Amino acid sequence: MADKSKKPAPNKPKFSAWWIYTAIILVFLALNYFSSSSDYGNPKEILENQVLTYAKDGDVERIDISKSKQIAYIYLTAEAEKKEVHAKPADNGMSILSSDSGADYEYRYATLEDLTDQLAKIEENQGIYISRKVLPPDNNVFGDILLTLLPIAVIIGIWIFIMRRMSSGGAGGAGGQIFNIGKSKAKLFDEKTDVKTTFKDVAGLEGAKEEVQEIVDFLKNPSKYTNLGGKIPKGALLVGPPGTGKTLLAKAVAGEAKVPFFSLSGSDFVEMFVGVGASRVRDLFKQAKEKSPAIIFIDEIDAIGRARGKANFSGSNDERENTLNQLLTEMDGFGTNTNVIVLAATNRADVLDTALMRAGRFDRQIYVDLPDVRERKEIFEVHLRPLKKVADELDTEFMAKQTPGFSGADIANVCNEAALIAARQGKTAVGRQDFLDAVDRIVGGLEKKNKIITPDEKKAIAFHEAGHATVSWMLEHAAPLVKVTIVPRGRSLGAAWYLPEERLIVRPEQMLDEMCAAMGGRAAEKVTFDKISTGALSDLEKVTKQARMMVTTYGLNDAIGNLTYYDSSGQNEYNFSKPYSEKTAELIDKEISKIIEEQYQRAITILEENKDKLNELAEVLLDKEVIFKDNLEKIFGKRPFEKPEGVEQKMQENTLPVSEN
Ligand code: ATP
Repeated sequence: MADKSKKPAPNKPKFSAWWIYTAIILVFLALNYFSSSSDYGNPKEILENQVLTYAKDGDVERIDISKSKQIAYIYLTAEAEKKEVHAKPADNGMSILSSDSGADYEYRYATLEDLTDQLAKIEENQGIYISRKVLPPDNNVFGDILLTLLPIAVIIGIWIFIMRRMSSGGAGGAGGQIFNIGKSKAKLFDEKTDVKTTFKDVAGLEGAKEEVQEIVDFLKNPSKYTNLGGKIPKGALLVGPPGTGKTLLAKAVAGEAKVPFFSLSGSDFVEMFVGVGASRVRDLFKQAKEKSPAIIFIDEIDAIGRARGKANFSGSNDERENTLNQLLTEMDGFGTNTNVIVLAATNRADVLDTALMRAGRFDRQIYVDLPDVRERKEIFEVHLRPLKKVADELDTEFMAKQTPGFSGADIANVCNEAALIAARQGKTAVGRQDFLDAVDRIVGGLEKKNKIITPDEKKAIAFHEAGHATVSWMLEHAAPLVKVTIVPRGRSLGAAWYLPEERLIVRPEQMLDEMCAAMGGRAAEKVTFDKISTGALSDLEKVTKQARMMVTTYGLNDAIGNLTYYDSSGQNEYNFSKPYSEKTAELIDKEISKIIEEQYQRAITILEENKDKLNELAEVLLDKEVIFKDNLEKIFGKRPFEKPEGVEQKMQENTLPVSEN
């Protein structure tokens, strides 16, 4: 079936407001014409005594009487017209003699009898005869009708004009939405629309791809499953961090499914009018049912699918709840939605209403995680396809290793940024260094070589970064260092770049080592200058968060014990009250500060023991501005804890750079 919304608009003549204006002007002209044009020309109005005087003088030839208008039209004799008294004033103020076209005078009488009696008397006395004729009733009915109908016509005209403007808005015009406000705003993709995305464009995500492919298969061959008594699932929810390819996966489904695919975003249901959301949901499912088998894709479903609350601080949000209720009913209510599957994507499954997530609505939840090393390699390969790169120079495996914690969208961005960097430098192909620069640019921001930094500040930054590098080098569980730089970038003045291990579970000693390395910067300032500075802000922020998580989230603190105050449902996000007592709050604060202080002291001890190496490293850093792992090996010797290459890494929240100041 063809999509109604996609059909080209029928070829009706284009409506233009000028028609209305023209019509109104014409009506006015016509009225003017009908009311002013008469057979009597433009006679001068006179009073009764004048009529009688002229009659007595024998100037009047005839009188036509219009009873309907109560006007007597007076025609003068040819001789009388030549008299000065009947001369008509000309435009230039001079008098001209009366012409013989039309009546010469008109007299608006009150009673006709009076006039005729007076005339009869004159005739009798003077012995003259004045011809009198009663005119047939005035038949300029058309003009009268027009005059009556004109206001109505004008009002109707304006009304039509406004209605047309409102409904001719179509897809683009805002006005058209007034009448289509309750209609679904979903975009339809079917066999007629050319969607170029296929599963080949989605790298990695094997499990997720398989699941969505199966959903497509359900729709195409339902009997294969229903014959065994199975039911087709109603929906699948794609859940994962931003930029991991959920929308891309849905696009690939649209490209490959060969069934009508309705795509819209959660916010498309929302409008300023009450009841519109629910109406759009109804309309969406109605359209999908008409075209079944079909797939509905709702991106960012959390816009409408948030858990319904008893009371809402931000004011009542009944409209969103109504929309959600309608969605719940449509997905699993009395009405059957045969062969319509709902795909939805969200970053925050934890805030979704539990009724929405239950089996029978979103039967399947497909987790789309951040890609691991192997998947990142594949994503690089997909995005490198359109680029003109220096042959054989780029090792995608190396790039994948350089980008832990990157999402698919970040990798797409790296490839694009690399091409831009290469173009800026006037290169004809994109090379390895461009990609590395692009990674640095994305992680750290733009290099600011011309930022004004005093020599003292530069020295402090160098020692700070050298402190990070030294401490992390000495700790077993700290992430291996890639490079240290004191070139300002984005908002940071310098950075130590690490390659964090991608771990599935993290042990306390690993967390503590990372915190110690992060405190290494401030510790180096203290050890070297016996002064501290504001340069450690981002380190302190990171360390405080980590310590708080150890204590309140992961139950890794002895004093607090095996407790967590984390709520995966996201409900307590809006709570003002804490889930623990004041006493515990104090204890938590004390424990957090204790952990951080311990790690700070540990870093100071390490640096005091290796003060000469720290100085040496800082000097090299001041000299070269950027130093790599090799430079550190020259000073410290080989790092004893280095892991063998090729250990499969799993993702962790950490991204490069671990420390920046
Ligand atoms: P959000 O939750 O923020 O909407 P998302 O998960 O829907 O994010 P997408 O819009 O699908 O993210 O991805 C953004 C871009 O990232 C895609 O257009 C694509 O270029 C790239 N991308 C993400 N994942 C992949 C992947 N697995 N393979 C290839 N490209 C990917």
